[in-house]
Amino acid sequence: MNILVINAGSSSLKYQLIEIVNNKIVAKGTIERIGIEGSNLVHKPEGKDLVRIEQPMPDHKVAIKVMIAALMDKEHGVISSMDEINAVGHRVVHGAEYFSGSVIITDEVIAALEECSELAPLHNPANLMGIQACISIMPNVPMVGVFDTAFHQTMPKRAYLYGLSYEAYQEYRIRRYGFHGTSHKYIATRYAELIGKDIKNLKIITCHLGNGSSITAVDGGKSIDTTMGFTPLEGLVMGTRSGDIDPAIVPYLMDKMGMDLEQTIQYLNKECGVYGISGVSSDFRDLWVASIQGNERATTALEVFCYRIRKFIGGYAAAMGGVDAILFTAGIGENDPKIREMCIEGLEFIGARIDKEINDVKGKELRISAPDSTVDIWCVPTNEELAIARETYLLCK
Ligand code: AMP
Repeated sequence: MNILVINAGSSSLKYQLIEIVNNKIVAKGTIERIGIEGSNLVHKPEGKDLVRIEQPMPDHKVAIKVMIAALMDKEHGVISSMDEINAVGHRVVHGAEYFSGSVIITDEVIAALEECSELAPLHNPANLMGIQACISIMPNVPMVGVFDTAFHQTMPKRAYLYGLSYEAYQEYRIRRYGFHGTSHKYIATRYAELIGKDIKNLKIITCHLGNGSSITAVDGGKSIDTTMGFTPLEGLVMGTRSGDIDPAIVPYLMDKMGMDLEQTIQYLNKECGVYGISGVSSDFRDLWVASIQGNERATTALEVFCYRIRKFIGGYAAAMGGVDAILFTAGIGENDPKIREMCIEGLEFIGARIDKEINDVKGKELRISAPDSTVDIWCVPTNEELAIARETYLLCK
């Protein structure tokens, strides 16, 4: 059974065709500059050379047609007809309180997604464009929506309510939603599978550390708290996002820097985080190079990043009344041993110790805790596309 996984952005679209029974990626690719001059598709079929196709793609519908043509092409294709696409799984950023799990997309689901758009104006309308383009081209293929927010719908009220008036929640839906749910769920589930224990009996802290970063407390397989909030701007200090700040900073900054609201939001999302602190880069490889060369701001940025993580790990251990495992994933979590070490440093009091030698690993499923650590620490590479394909399979098989 072939499942097409689609992650549609406003001007870009990523896809993977996955043969789900064997967990095999048959082809994958990225379309960029949809609706902009210079539209192109980079397509990589399994076992064949990468191809780059340049042709005008004024909208998502044309982009999906070009993608399907690439998948069926005589030379670089991997299927011979559209009938070989059995289901499509769409990544959807925001499902608000409507969706606590993945769903088959119907007219009602689309209406609910439109309702959610004001909560994620940069993402949901783009996700919807991808969904509608696929429906019009493949009307008989089942479509599934997999939400970044769904896994966190199990959070109790005490974790998702802000200290605002209750009307802010009731009337304007202002609450913690949390994001990266597909990834947190995938690595927590995968870890339980790897150690052969029932996730229902485990208290896990999952650290998704990439360009966007978040941490989740997973108690008995359920998200009970997470660092991202109403939007993905809250929580950890990220590549270019500020994470938690005092809200009173916003008007003060606007006044001092002469920015309007839109510029301020842009600033908090794109010019802050480790990039803003270091003045060097949002990429941790560049930060390490600068730090080793004596750039103090780069060193400080790395320390701020890890300190915030350590605080949340401690906080979530308290929230769950203990912790059995701490998991690291995504670009930084999977590939930066030194950052993992710095995040765990000082957590000996909860029984967490890293084995520095074993920890010197990149992108592998591996236990990295010391033998005397009472908390299991692991590197578990995430695979959001596979997770979306599995969710889709479960609903369509
Ligand atoms: P992601 O958003 O999960 O794709 O993560 C992207 C980020 O991972 C990059 O911006 C880098 O900061 C980080 N990253 C990727 N590879 C490495 C590496 N080998 N060492 C350290 N950081 C890395």
